[in-house]
Amino acid sequence: MNDSFEVTQAKKIKVNENIINYLNSDYIYIPLIKGMKLHKGNELSLLKNDLVLKGSEYDIYTPVSGTIKAIDEDIYINNEPIKAIAIENNFKEEVKTLKSATKYIDDLDPKKVLELIDKYNILNIPINPKAKTLVISGIEVDPFERNNTFIINNYSSKILETIDALINIFHFEKTYFCVTDSNSEVVYNLTSNIGTYPNISLKVLNNSYTLGFESVLINKLLTKKELKWKYNYLTCEDVLNIYRILKRDNPISEKLITLGGNALEETKVLQVKLGTKVGDIIKNNAEIISDKYLVVQNGLINGTVLKELNNIVTMDTRSIFLNTKDTRKEKKCINCGLCMFKCPVGLNPKLIKMGKGDKSKCIHCGACTYVCPSLINFKKYLGEEHE
Ligand code: SF4
Ligand code: SF4
Repeated sequence: MNDSFEVTQAKKIKVNENIINYLNSDYIYIPLIKGMKLHKGNELSLLKNDLVLKGSEYDIYTPVSGTIKAIDEDIYINNEPIKAIAIENNFKEEVKTLKSATKYIDDLDPKKVLELIDKYNILNIPINPKAKTLVISGIEVDPFERNNTFIINNYSSKILETIDALINIFHFEKTYFCVTDSNSEVVYNLTSNIGTYPNISLKVLNNSYTLGFESVLINKLLTKKELKWKYNYLTCEDVLNIYRILKRDNPISEKLITLGGNALEETKVLQVKLGTKVGDIIKNNAEIISDKYLVVQNGLINGTVLKELNNIVTMDTRSIFLNTKDTRKEKKCINCGLCMFKCPVGLNPKLIKMGKGDKSKCIHCGACTYVCPSLINFKKYLGEEHE
């Protein structure tokens, strides 16, 4: 078992230095989640950040100002059809009143911080205030993505200020900020700025695939004792979102995504509205150089091929790639053992393909499929898509 492998092609990707906004799609879509109620009833006009859907655990706000037009039944999330509220964007970004910003976020009390994180539902796993360790990952999940790199290059002072505030508010005893050595700019940026934050330990790890997965990074980083003490794990984007809600007490309305792939002229990191259709993003931002492509969401190594361009951006969308289809044929296994050797959780994908192995520990990283010289696609045997 090996926990990683290098993906050399990723080093060649260059992205924009400054933010590229795509905030003006004509419509954005809010998923109608079962059990949630339309808050405004018959009122069709909305200001940005107005409450649209009220739920028992969290609420959903509109990322644009505009008008509710219809319930659209031809919308998808991760290829699953959903019903969604279509809001026509009036491009005015009108808000009720501009709230004043919190000056020092580390003056906030723990209850207020947890309350705001919960209110705006920005983390999949809430912060555990009793944990002693905080782990921040600046490592991309997929080596062709550039979201965390972009965030560190553009927002490092805000990120470090927020991490320091979280340490002071929750009294975490140990904090690791993890990056890899693949991006010297990121490492330089952090080493130049981290000096004023003695409570944050910068960990520069050898660049390798699967370190962007929480379980792999945690196993590599934390001692048994630290694991026993419990930990909180946040990505750089989580930290940036925490900064924004603590500063402004407003919902998150935008999402950073990497738009790239070999069918495109260049890779870009875009800021888009939550609820934007993938098709609108491609139409308005992609310089396509090859028309025979697949649209892949959330990574070239472990992503999902989108069957519909009416899939929408959610908080979990990290990237959209337009890549030419690999037409090479699968060959016979040559028993090289790479698929097993590169599996970060010690599985034997060949056995799983034969219906024999236990696949419950699989983290769906796609490493086995990526490294196989015989082009054997294990995804279908691991309970994923076929392409
Ligand atoms: S996809 Fe699953 S089986 Fe394949 S390398 Fe990753 S964890 Fe192992
Ligand atoms: S990596 Fe491919 S060729 Fe090598 S043992 Fe695994 S299935 Fe066979």
